[in-house]
Amino acid sequence: MKVICKNTNCQEFDKEVEVPDWDGLHSYGLFMLKQCPSCKKLRKAIYTQSLEEEPKGFENVAFAKIASMTPQERKKILKKRSNEHFQKHIKPRKEYLDRAIIGKE
Ligand SMILES: [Zn+2]
Repeated sequence: MKVICKNTNCQEFDKEVEVPDWDGLHSYGLFMLKQCPSCKKLRKAIYTQSLEEEPKGFENVAFAKIASMTPQERKKILKKRSNEHFQKHIKPRKEYLDRAIIGKE
């Protein structure tokens, strides 16, 4: 977590400082983390919330859909996908390489 000293008289005022996350067990530990080494007053803790946000987007929706499928359906989709991948990316390259090996290019 990050802490920030809000004591305007402190040389560490308004400076974000990264400290280890509080273990949640000992209030004294939290006190030690929050105490400003410069002015000895308690700093304000800033908790990062990004981890709790739900990721959104097409990829995740598609993934959720696949996750809810039966194993047979999944196999079909994945097979279709890898075939499309082969047609789009691997096949043209392979053909190019084949031609190169034969010496036509
Ligand atoms: Zn301070």
